[in-house]
Amino acid sequence: MPPGGSLASLKNFTPPVSDDRDHRLARAERRVVRERAARMEAEAIAEQGLRRLYESQQRLLLLQRITDGANRTTEIEAALRIAVTEICRDMDWAFGNALLVGDQSSTVAGCDVWYAADPDALFPFVEASRHARFEAGIGLPGRVLADVRPHWIDNVTRDTNFPRLNMAAQCGLAAACAFPVMVGDEVAGVLEFFARRLIVPDDDLLGIMGQIGTQLGRVIERDRARRALIHDAHHDAMTRLPNRTLFMKRAESAFVRMTVDQQVNMAVIVVDLDGFKAVNDTLGHQAGDALLIEVASRMQACIAAAEEEARGSGACWRATLARVGGDEFNVLVDNFDDAAAVTRLADTIHRCFAAPSVLAGKQIRCQASIGIAFGNQSYGDVEQMLRDADLAMYQAKSRGRGQSVTFTEQLGTEVRRRTQIEHELRRAIAERQFVLHYQPIVSLNDPNSICGFEALIRWNHPMRGLLLPAEFIDIAEQSGLILFIGDWVLGEACAQASAWHWRTGGERLPFISINISPQQFLQPEFVDRVHAVLMESGITPATVRLEVTEGVAIMDAAQTSVILEKIRAWGVKTSLDDFGTGFSSLSYLQSLPFDALKIDRSFVAAMNGSNKSRGIVQAILDLARTMGMTVIAEGIETAAQEELLRLMGCDMGQGFRYGRAETNTHALAKIMVC
Ligand code: GH3
Ligand code: MG
Repeated sequence: MPPGGSLASLKNFTPPVSDDRDHRLARAERRVVRERAARMEAEAIAEQGLRRLYESQQRLLLLQRITDGANRTTEIEAALRIAVTEICRDMDWAFGNALLVGDQSSTVAGCDVWYAADPDALFPFVEASRHARFEAGIGLPGRVLADVRPHWIDNVTRDTNFPRLNMAAQCGLAAACAFPVMVGDEVAGVLEFFARRLIVPDDDLLGIMGQIGTQLGRVIERDRARRALIHDAHHDAMTRLPNRTLFMKRAESAFVRMTVDQQVNMAVIVVDLDGFKAVNDTLGHQAGDALLIEVASRMQACIAAAEEEARGSGACWRATLARVGGDEFNVLVDNFDDAAAVTRLADTIHRCFAAPSVLAGKQIRCQASIGIAFGNQSYGDVEQMLRDADLAMYQAKSRGRGQSVTFTEQLGTEVRRRTQIEHELRRAIAERQFVLHYQPIVSLNDPNSICGFEALIRWNHPMRGLLLPAEFIDIAEQSGLILFIGDWVLGEACAQASAWHWRTGGERLPFISINISPQQFLQPEFVDRVHAVLMESGITPATVRLEVTEGVAIMDAAQTSVILEKIRAWGVKTSLDDFGTGFSSLSYLQSLPFDALKIDRSFVAAMNGSNKSRGIVQAILDLARTMGMTVIAEGIETAAQEELLRLMGCDMGQGFRYGRAETNTHALAKIMVC
């Protein structure tokens, strides 16, 4: 190199031509210079290539770190946090923010997943971004959502579609870029980044961001599947309400809160629809499902409205409605100050059944029975509370349905007593502990002659002695045991009466009145059973009177009429029992073919002192006469009652005046005497 020369000056150097040796030397030097320049150029190119290679490696490592992080977590927020943090650190960008697309895919919103190199300096912009929501096409994330591609902004403070412009300017942020997180073809989220200097997008960066978006999309897919599984495991598929599992989880945590802090209250409400099976039976299972869905949504709406209203007045209770079985729903009420809030909520639930539902083109009125149990420190767990709420709900059913009952200790004792009786009744049926007593029925025109007997059941209880029906019949009815008991009564009474007829040589044939419960009467096989009993006992059908209350007509008037016609065709007589105590609908009287009508004892007892009662009895007698029915008055105790009824035109009477119910032997003796 010439003295003081540089590489550039070497190119312009010309050697002297005078001397051949010098000439060759100069040529060699020129070659050296050219070769050195070429080598330096090659080195520069190699260095650039190496730098690119290094950058690509760094980006691949970045992708690797994000992918590893995303694969380690099942929660999308955690994966997004890793991605935002790694990208900002790697690219030396000041702020990164993750946004997710909402249920309606037209908006994208911040999910409080962000990274700031210097959070204090960027505070206004972080606050404006953490939960920011953007419609498709609005702002940077909105543009990514609408166009399904990355977007770049050189200077956000000069952008006309950047709502956070002021905060960005305040924090000194200039350039921005944003990428979509993709699940298939759909944008599921957006990552946005900001820097104080220019961000130049290159193909490598775009490629890597695309891959990061795809990786995060996979986490979203996994997360969605996981959440769907968790949701399904905790919700009822048909009504979409929480199911028993979720209800129990929430109830158990409320129970723990109540146990550790005596100031915290909780209650459980059990709601069971009344007569829901009939909807399935008459309109089909699909209509039943539709009713359950409608009822669930009504209850949910009215509970939410009640919660909202309570919040407005400063109360802070919460309620969880769950479908826990067929037509059974539970409500957990947590954190209330005043127990009245819970009973008011139960009233609100009743009211939401008021409007009829339209199913299969028919208007259906639905109602529910409700049981409430308030938590207290004596409960060991939620199951015990639910058991008590259930007991209260069954009590509401037995009190006539469509109402609420709150569990009390007294109720618990009563229910336990009834459960014990039910248990003993089962044994009584198996061990045949029942007997029949017979109360005479006389003609009021000749009270000394017995026309018939009413068979009345007694329970010969091994510990408590002879029990009257009032002590056990309603329990037998509620438990369904009445079907077995009633069947036994029917067979036994016919067998006894047939035996009397044989013993008296068939000369005098007093009739036998047998009480039939509505459940027993409406059994599909009832008619066949009556026929079989008539055949087995050999009794004259005309001496058998079956007594039913108008409950049968209320349960199923059409079916009642069919059954009455069939059994009357064999000569069996029928009586409408306890007339005057229930609905006493004249339309039933007109449409149902009864032979006789029994006036309830309460009217007979009231006749003495009350013209009004006498008037009612007279009206019943006139009505029965018009319809060609015999009338039997129950509960006659005095001669005055007997005389009055006879004068009013009553045909027959029954009561202590003519004898109490007595054993078979006594009854037979009376028949023999007559
Ligand atoms: P009660 O008044 O005593 O409550 O009697 P109910 O007729 O309402 O019947 P109950 O509560 O004893 O039984 C509920 C019935 O609901 C039993 C079953 O036939 C029916 N069921 C259970 N699950 C479903 C369902 O998912 N869809 C439909 N349509 N019916 C159901
Ligand atoms: Mg029900």
